[in-house]
Amino acid sequence: MWDTVLELQRREEELQRLRKLLEKLKSQRDDYLRQIDEVLQEERQIIAELNEAIDSIRHQEEKLRECEENLKRSEERLKKVRKAEEYRALLKEKAKNEDCIIKGRQRLQELKRQKTHIEQKLKEPTRVKRKTQLEEALGELEDDIRRLEKKYQESYEEFIAFCQKVPPDILEEYQKLKEKVGLPVMVKVDTFGTCSYCGTKLPSSLYSKVIRGEKVICPTCGKVVY
Ligand SMILES: [Zn+2]
Repeated sequence: MWDTVLELQRREEELQRLRKLLEKLKSQRDDYLRQIDEVLQEERQIIAELNEAIDSIRHQEEKLRECEENLKRSEERLKKVRKAEEYRALLKEKAKNEDCIIKGRQRLQELKRQKTHIEQKLKEPTRVKRKTQLEEALGELEDDIRRLEKKYQESYEEFIAFCQKVPPDILEEYQKLKEKVGLPVMVKVDTFGTCSYCGTKLPSSLYSKVIRGEKVICPTCGKVVY
């Protein structure tokens, strides 16, 4: 009887251990997914910055072209002008366009520098490496979870099959004990005669029974001591 109870307990404790391990791995997986999401978020942010820089450059180039065309026009008109007043106005306009071109070119250089800087940020080795490492670790973890789920399923089926072979009265006794004291239902006695579960020192009358190979109930935790 007690050997069967011990075997039931052993199998059920193994299932419990596998369940806990699975939970731990799944929470680790959630953690990896969260970290990967953070990296991706960061990447999306940089790509948005890059697109913004590209837009600014295009806008600035258009503006520069416009100033260059205006300058050309005012130069041509200067060749044809007669009146001194008109000439002065055109010279002023020409100077304005030249100024626009100089400033525009400087601004364009600056924007291109910014774009290069953002592109470097996008290729930043530590972030890229971190992403790869996280994805690899996640892949391995997913494999572990799949293996463990399979193992758990197998152990569970074996446990059910084992229970079907156990005489009903033993199974009932085991269930009753489990409801009363929880797993484990049976615990070993320690050297010096204490219950290995709760540490209570057994009275010598009980301890001597254990020594003779009998099963006794721990007066504190209620588990079967052997
Ligand atoms: Zn105890």
